[in-house]
Amino acid sequence: MSRYTSMEHNKFLLQEVHRANEIFSLPRYAHLTWEEVWMMIEAAKLLADRDMAPYFKEMDAQPAHYDGNGGVKTHTQLKTIIQQAAENGWIGGGASFEHGGMQLPMVIYNTAQHIFMAANNSCQGYFSLSAGAAALITSFGTAEQINTFVPNIFAGKWQGTMALTEPQAGSSLTDITTSAKATADGFYTITGQKIFISGGQHEACDNFIHLTLARIEGAPAGVKGISLFIIPKFWPEQDGTLTPNDVFCAGDFQKMGQRGYCTTHLVFGDKANCKGWLVGEPHKGLAYMFQMMNEARISVGLDAASVAMAAYQASLQYTNERPQGRLASEKDPLKPATLIINHPDVQRMLLTQKAIAEGALSLVMECNRLSDLVHGSEGETKKNSLLLLELLTPIVKTYSAEQGSRSAALAIQTLGGYGFTMDFPVQQHYRDLKIMSLYEGTTGIQSIDLLGRKVIMEKGKALLLLQEEINHTITEANTSTDLKKYAHQLEIEVARIQQVLTHLGVFTQGNIDRYLADASVFMEQMSYVVIAWQWLKQAVIAQHNLEAGNFKNQSPSFYEGKVLTMKFFFRYELTHAAACAETLLDEEFLTNVSNKKMFD
Ligand SMILES: Cc1cc2nc3c(=O)[nH]c(=O)nc-3n(C[C@H](O)[C@H](O)[C@H](O)COP(=O)(O)OP(=O)(O)OC[C@H]3O[C@@H](n4cnc5c(N)ncnc54)[C@H](O)[C@@H]3O)c2cc1C
Repeated sequence: MSRYTSMEHNKFLLQEVHRANEIFSLPRYAHLTWEEVWMMIEAAKLLADRDMAPYFKEMDAQPAHYDGNGGVKTHTQLKTIIQQAAENGWIGGGASFEHGGMQLPMVIYNTAQHIFMAANNSCQGYFSLSAGAAALITSFGTAEQINTFVPNIFAGKWQGTMALTEPQAGSSLTDITTSAKATADGFYTITGQKIFISGGQHEACDNFIHLTLARIEGAPAGVKGISLFIIPKFWPEQDGTLTPNDVFCAGDFQKMGQRGYCTTHLVFGDKANCKGWLVGEPHKGLAYMFQMMNEARISVGLDAASVAMAAYQASLQYTNERPQGRLASEKDPLKPATLIINHPDVQRMLLTQKAIAEGALSLVMECNRLSDLVHGSEGETKKNSLLLLELLTPIVKTYSAEQGSRSAALAIQTLGGYGFTMDFPVQQHYRDLKIMSLYEGTTGIQSIDLLGRKVIMEKGKALLLLQEEINHTITEANTSTDLKKYAHQLEIEVARIQQVLTHLGVFTQGNIDRYLADASVFMEQMSYVVIAWQWLKQAVIAQHNLEAGNFKNQSPSFYEGKVLTMKFFFRYELTHAAACAETLLDEEFLTNVSNKKMFD
């Protein structure tokens, strides 16, 4: 089993960069102490080492598959994994005490999830889906709905899912057609099909609670006519028995990655007898579902960063064991071969991976911290944290997915030919990672969300808040002579974003079809800048510790590595932001909704 995460880095992010202690000072989290939570994180690592990581390869080699008769076969270890996660509080841990949770802040909960995701990417999705479905019920459901479903979901007995996608409605949820008809007893009869539903049917749970989007008969067209329903596979009766509901699993998609994580095709109401329970008010379903989708987007960002971290750790280990060739300056062929980690080009590949994985993880933690401030504070802090979180959500998902894929490809490259073989894990990391830029909104959809909605919401207030945060880091960096140059570089790149937005006319009702056509390029520019901010933030802390000789939390070489990786990121990665800006500022406009000539 290769190393798949860095506990030093996890501790550094939690303790020093994103200051978990400050979160524990909020009333909602005041029951926690650093010592306690770090023990929990270490226990999560032991759980992942024992029950998840050893099955990483097997769950890929023996993928989830349809049994031909409504069932999905999954790896036998999955039941143990889900039960262990539940028993240790890693399904309901983030929920409040009143709902049976541990009221953990997201910075803690998601550090444990990171460990699970990095250990075995085929299993964590099952419990994050359950956690998200339960959160949706506790936020918008009735007391009866909460009592009926949530305890069993948190106990790992019942699986929660999110059922949005239909064959004709993927990116565009406006087009969903699954229908709901009110019945005399206050429920609804549901008819329709959902595809690609993760965790929709498997052997490790007894019941499946599908949080489903559907249209009530006569509802307005478009997203304003979508409602949210709970559709259990087995209906829980008052006496505690379970009655089969008309929910049929018609298949399980076979995939290039995440092969232990089933992806089902569900049919509701084939026998005209599928019973659904409305959550909240009619026609508000998509707004409710956005809570789960936003959390899931951050979770996908975390997942991508975690798999990239696992691939980096595996390639780092290999380069420390594999001798090959000699340095260019060594002319004596009789000298023993050097380890490949000594070749500068291999170091460049490793540093790129480290910069991407650790940078992305830091941004995920920033989002978790904001989420904790949203849930644990009031007034301006709550409002501003939410705005900033909304702005960063498409970025954290997209940067981690897109650059994480690049990073895992570099991990294969680092191993040379062996990286391409099934003998080493990096090819699996690469395959597992690809889905992250597709589900929970593709990169194209996230980019449109960023440029078309997030940067302009509340007249650009979220962007201003981000600028304030970045400026704060720049001011801190300016107190160290060694970091001034990088603070200045970041300042220039932030100004370039404003220049691009002005040029595109985003705030002045410019040509929306034109500027959204380049939304992905803007996403790239913005991502480099945001990750550079995260790197400068990490470097400021590392540099201050180095200057003060403060090594009580980490070793001097750890902090030196942080400062060096920041410098590497600024020189080799952040420079791409200017290239994106050049493309965006060019007057010649090539991709165009009415211009398909280039494909003739
Ligand atoms: C393994 C897996 C697991 C999944 N799990 C779930 C789940 O648990 N629950 C669930 O509900 N769904 C799930 N999905 C569905 C997933 O969210 C969708 O596949 C995704 O949203 C994309 O929809 P689509 O596949 O229909 O692609 P399409 O929407 O057809 O997109 C195809 C391409 O067109 C682009 N495109 C589409 N519309 C636009 C536009 N307006 N502007 C610019 N570009 C556009 C996209 O970016 C993409 O590149 C899962 C999918 C997979 C593969």
